[in-house]
Amino acid sequence: MSELPPAIVLLGQGGLATAQRLRALYPQARLLGLATRVHGAGETYEHFGDTLRQLYRENTPIIALCAAGIVIRTLAPELLAKTAEPPVLALAEDGSAVVPLLGGLGGVNHMARCIAAHLAVAPAITTSGELRFGQCLLDPPEGYVLADLDQGKRFVADLLGGAAVRIEGPAPWLSDAPLSKAADARLAIHVSPHARPAAAHELLIHPRSVVLAVHHTAADLAPKVRALLEREGIAPAALGCVLAAPEAMADGALHALANALALPLRFNPALPGHASEGVALRVYPAPIDPDSLGQRRGRLAVVGLGPGAAALLAPAVRAELAHAQDVLGYETYVRMAGPFRDDQVLHCTDNREELQRARHAFELAAQGRSVVVVSSGDPGVFAMASAVLEALESGEAAWHRVDLQVLPGISASLATAAWAGAPLGHDFCVLSLSDNLKPWAMIEKRLHLACEADLAMAFYNPISRSRPWQLGRALEIVRQHRAPATPVVLGRDVARPGQRLRVVSLGELTPDMVDMRTMVLVGSSTTRCIARVEGPPWVYTPRWYPQAPHQ
Ligand code: SAH
Repeated sequence: MSELPPAIVLLGQGGLATAQRLRALYPQARLLGLATRVHGAGETYEHFGDTLRQLYRENTPIIALCAAGIVIRTLAPELLAKTAEPPVLALAEDGSAVVPLLGGLGGVNHMARCIAAHLAVAPAITTSGELRFGQCLLDPPEGYVLADLDQGKRFVADLLGGAAVRIEGPAPWLSDAPLSKAADARLAIHVSPHARPAAAHELLIHPRSVVLAVHHTAADLAPKVRALLEREGIAPAALGCVLAAPEAMADGALHALANALALPLRFNPALPGHASEGVALRVYPAPIDPDSLGQRRGRLAVVGLGPGAAALLAPAVRAELAHAQDVLGYETYVRMAGPFRDDQVLHCTDNREELQRARHAFELAAQGRSVVVVSSGDPGVFAMASAVLEALESGEAAWHRVDLQVLPGISASLATAAWAGAPLGHDFCVLSLSDNLKPWAMIEKRLHLACEADLAMAFYNPISRSRPWQLGRALEIVRQHRAPATPVVLGRDVARPGQRLRVVSLGELTPDMVDMRTMVLVGSSTTRCIARVEGPPWVYTPRWYPQAPHQ
C-alpha cells in the first residue's frame, strides 16, 4: 500500500468545494489545480497528463476530480509498464460519485468507501474479490494485521482464479465468508502471532494477541525487545500492548519504547513472565483489548480559558478539552469551556472549594482518567494551578505519576491591557486585593513598595461583597504616591458578553465604579492617554523614562 498522502487533482474550478471537503478526511493531502483554470487550490500544475503520470509513477494515491474516462486515457500508457499501482479514483466534481479505478490491491476500495462515507454517497465498488468474498481479504478487521501485502496480492489473484482455501488458526471474521474452503487446499489463510517465511500459497495474518511485559525499564529496551521477539519467533506486528508496573508509569524510557513500537501502554501490578527477565511476552488466544489488561496513565491538565471569548482560547487547551473525560471547575468556567459531549463528566463546584477540587482531580486522574481542571484567564494567576500543586505536595504517591500539565491562558490583566492599548507596556506588577488567603497588612506593604518602585499595577479581585472596604483603602495608599491625573483602566467582563472598558483618572476613581468582575489597571508616573476616534482613549506606558521617577 502506498504510504504517501493522496494528491487531489483538479481540472476545473467546479471541483474546488468538493476537494476542500476531502481535506477534512485527508489533512495531509496535496491539492493541485490546473494553473489556467483553478484558483485557490494551493499548488498549481501546467499539464494535466504529465502531472497525473508523474504522480502515478511516484506511487502517490490520486483522487482526480474529473471524468473517469479522462483519467483512464491519461494513465493508459503507464498501465502497460510494470510500475507501482497506487490507488486512483475519479470523483465527480460535485462529490456525487466516487469511482475506484486502479490500485484494487493497494487500498483503493477502502479509500472509495471512506470518501463515499465522508461525502454521504455510495462508492462504485466493482472489484470481484470484494464482491465475491464480501470483504477485502487484504484488509482484515481491527485487531488483525496483514503480514505482507505483496504476498497477499498474489494470493488473492489465485483465490479469484477459483482455488479452494484452508483456514489455519482462528479467523472469526471469515467464518461466514463465501470462500470455498477445503482442508486439503493448496492455498491457506494462516492466522498466527508467529513469524513465518513468506510463501506464495499463504496469506499470513497476525492477530494483535501478544503482550509485551516490561519488568525493568532501561534506555536500551528496543534491541532487547527485538531479540526477545526473534528468540520466541513472534512477529513484531502481533504485539498489541506494552504492560508495566504502576511504579513505572512516569518512566520516560518506557514511554519512548511504546511510542517507537506504536503500541498502547497499560499498567498492572501483576505482570506476566519473571522479573529476572527484564522483558517478557505473553501470547493470548485472540486479539487483546489493552484496557482489559491494565489501567492507562491518567492525565491531569490545568488549563486557562482566557478571559472568555472562544477566539482567545489556545488551540492546545481546545484539544485538551476535546480529549477530557472529566472536567472540573467553578460552574461559570465549566460552562464557558463547553459545549461538551454526553460522555464527558462535568464536576461543577463552588469557587471556594479549590483544594478539594484539586484533590478530586488527582483521584480521578490516578484511576487512569483524562481530567481537565479549568480556570479563567491563566491557571497560574490567582487560580487553580497553585491549588493543584498544593494538593500534589501533600498527595499520594500515585498522584505524582499522573501526567500533569499546566496549559496557559490569556490573563484578564493582559486582555484588558490590550483593549486599552499598552498600559502595562513597561515594568508592572500584578496584585490580588483579596485578603482571604493573605493578611491585609501584606497587601498594604506591597502597594506601598510597588508605588515607590513606580510600577504600573494590575489589581485582580479588587472588591467583593465580603470585602467591601479594601479597595478604598488601597486607593488611599496609591494616592499617597501617584498624581491624581494618573490614568486608570477599568475592564469589566472583558471578552465576555456585555464587556465594558473605561478610562478614568486616579483622582476620579471611586470603589463603586468597580466590582468583582472588573480588572483595575493603575498607570505609573509615565502612563499617558491619546484620544481615539471612538470610545475611551488609548492608554500606554512608554518603554522609556522621560526623567527619573518622582518619589
Ligand atoms: N486566573 C484569572 C484570574 C482569577 S482572579 C486570570 O488569569 O485572569 C479573578 C479576578 O480576575 C476577577 O475578580 C477580576 O478582577 C479578574 N477577571 C477575570 N476575568 C475577567 C474578565 N473577563 N474581565 C475583567 N476582569 C476579569
